[in-house]
Amino acid sequence: MIHDPGAECMAEGERRALQAERLRAAVATAYASVPFYRARLDAARLSPAAFAGPAELGRLPLTTKADLREHYPFGLLAVPREQLARVHASSGTRGRPTIAPYTRADVDLWAELCARSLALAGGMPGDVVHVAYGYGLFTGGLGLHYGAERLGCTVIPASAGQSQRQVTLLRDLGAVGLACTPSYALHLAEVAAGSVRLRYGIHGAEPWTDAMRARIEAAFGGDAVDIYGLSEVIGPGVACECREAKDGLHIQEDAFLAEIVDPATGAPLPEGEVGELVLTTLRKQAMPLLRYRTGDLCSLARGTCRCGRTTARMSRVKGRVDDMLIVRGVNVFPSEIEAVVLESPHLAPHYQVVLTRQAALDHMEVQAEWAGERPTDDTAGRAELAHRLFERLGVHSDVTIHPSGSLPRSEGKAVRVLDRRGQA
Ligand SMILES: [Zn+2]
Repeated sequence: MIHDPGAECMAEGERRALQAERLRAAVATAYASVPFYRARLDAARLSPAAFAGPAELGRLPLTTKADLREHYPFGLLAVPREQLARVHASSGTRGRPTIAPYTRADVDLWAELCARSLALAGGMPGDVVHVAYGYGLFTGGLGLHYGAERLGCTVIPASAGQSQRQVTLLRDLGAVGLACTPSYALHLAEVAAGSVRLRYGIHGAEPWTDAMRARIEAAFGGDAVDIYGLSEVIGPGVACECREAKDGLHIQEDAFLAEIVDPATGAPLPEGEVGELVLTTLRKQAMPLLRYRTGDLCSLARGTCRCGRTTARMSRVKGRVDDMLIVRGVNVFPSEIEAVVLESPHLAPHYQVVLTRQAALDHMEVQAEWAGERPTDDTAGRAELAHRLFERLGVHSDVTIHPSGSLPRSEGKAVRVLDRRGQA
């Protein structure tokens, strides 16, 4: 079921025209109502009246999380505070939280986008939907809650925690849909031990893999899809996979303009390339954001999907910009190195990457560890790992495989990357 075929299956040309019109309006509103944007646009010598729309998108300055922190709490509002219906917030890892303010119309839009997301997952009116995301300042719980109500479902606002009781409720109340983080879905699956069958699960707020999807689907017997969003732009519901294809997350393009930029330079990247996702809100009233840097790395694909929707799809988030390494001009994600190392049954799940500069060239060494006994001749093992790393990363690395137990272990967050390129 497609919740809003008008918006989700629009012809490409029609959508481009709609986005252009909404973008020009968003720029005009931001300029007129938010002093921060007025100053930014003036500095860029960009007059909203002369702004040509998406073709000139690159001329609009990028907005960062630091801008949000600097204008905490209400400095970026485009409406008087009295018009806010609600404020959510995300816990800042470095001090100040990030505020997510909503007008009544924003809450309404958000519910609509979450209803579309649930339908993408396979949801239908009349379903019992169990929401085990946390309720409160975090946007996950209330976002999916309003979305499920909007779709016409019976909502169980279970929130997080008390897993045994969650399983009892899932079973007794006949839930067919489950909304929670993927890791919590796996935990609930363990507790349920096969006693809960679902038609679909909608899981986001943390990165996960197809291997995890397979485990969740096997445990509950239904479809498990990825939902994406961030509180700064609205919360969950920015994009969601469809159950038919599970091949990228459909972006709600009538509400957001998505682009991919080079995280190092901010320059727009050609379609299909992996870079940082940048979002412009097209319908948000309380805090419109122009070209907001999400910090999430993914690629975009266009074209009609198997499910019939025509909206652009973003790949699953491949990592955070903060974690990305640039080695000889190639973007390298430690998570991909990890995936290659974990694929080998002969290697332990520990590794370290050492970057140095030799004769002005970046040099990458990947250090792994044998899972068991070190073979007498490890040449073949090293060559094989080096080959698989090159296939995956597109850049050469030297490989060392140490005896079991020799790489440093960490109590907290493991130090995987030693970047010594700045050192002589
Ligand atoms: Zn689709």
